[in-house]
Amino acid sequence: MTAYSFAAGPARLPDAVLERARDELFVRGVDGAATLERPFTGDAFRATLAHARERLATLLDLPPGYRILFLAGGAMHQFSLLPMNLLGTARCAAYADSGYWSQRAIDEARRYTEVVIAARYIGATPLAAPTTGRWHLPQGCAYCHITPNETVDGLAYPELPHTGAVPLVADATSCFLATPLDVTRFGLIYASAQKNLGIAGLTVLVVRDELLGRVAPHVPTAFSYRIQAQQDSTYNTPPTAAIHVAALVFDWIADNGGLTALAAANRRKAEGIYRVIDGSGGVYTAPVVPAHRSVTNIRFHLGDTALTERFVAEAEAHGLHHLRGHPRIGGLRASLYNAMPDAGASALAEFMADFARRNG
Ligand SMILES: *Cc1c(COP(=O)(O)O)cnc(C)c1O
Repeated sequence: MTAYSFAAGPARLPDAVLERARDELFVRGVDGAATLERPFTGDAFRATLAHARERLATLLDLPPGYRILFLAGGAMHQFSLLPMNLLGTARCAAYADSGYWSQRAIDEARRYTEVVIAARYIGATPLAAPTTGRWHLPQGCAYCHITPNETVDGLAYPELPHTGAVPLVADATSCFLATPLDVTRFGLIYASAQKNLGIAGLTVLVVRDELLGRVAPHVPTAFSYRIQAQQDSTYNTPPTAAIHVAALVFDWIADNGGLTALAAANRRKAEGIYRVIDGSGGVYTAPVVPAHRSVTNIRFHLGDTALTERFVAEAEAHGLHHLRGHPRIGGLRASLYNAMPDAGASALAEFMADFARRNG
């Protein structure tokens, strides 16, 4: 029996990446340094960094005028670093409230500026993402922040909002590289690595050059997007091992047909699970309206919540692990990031269908 982790993060890595990491990270080179030990100023690490940047630029079809930064830390660090770097002389920042992670970003931004709520989701069942029609974007807002895929709530925007001259900033942590992306729509995109890009410790930023001039004077130098951009993300020691693993993940994506192929595979995997939920006659329910359901984080409940513990125990006996929902909202959640193979998603769908037959 093959075991699969459906954890929300850190998430499964592709088998091919784990194998390359095993062969590459621990073996000493001619200079006596294994990949884990490479000096960040040396040629070998510089080459890895350049490779990661170029591969990612190709995968994203990166337009001119954008930079890619590889920064230490997670997405939650960016919740503070965004206002510190992007407010400039603006008096407020706009945030869309779409659930758990956007609310965490909003709480943090309030420590630095006035936060205007640009739009709100429907937080009662059935859940729905904010409509992208009329958003509240007052004059003088520095940027508008969205969370295109809400990892905890299991909902995703079906389309991006139009924010006019206000730069759109996205916490894409749980959806980055899961589907093609029109980078020109964004001023800044950030994603911590442990969901689709590799291992924890690294956050990737894609940022429009013209936004780099807004950094506040008191911002610690190592946290200045501008300084890190000027110094190719090596003002100080970057997370070298995490960048190496991210480069392996980018190679794997390119070898497997790029983002278009991944998007089709991700849709297919998710549809297989949602089909079982919707066809279960109420044994399972999904709280999100169908058009706004995440293809990455599939949230569901048992109609009879008393069955939840049995479901989790039997799933684990079938090799299907980490299916509990986020502690704050409970229920169940299956995260199907890029590295989840079809076989893992099918194994879960088959188990769920069988469990529904036995408990319907
Ligand atoms: C996981 C997640 C985070 C948390 O990121 P850290 O790297 O743990 O700081 C933030 N936002 C979203 C959308 C996430 O999925």
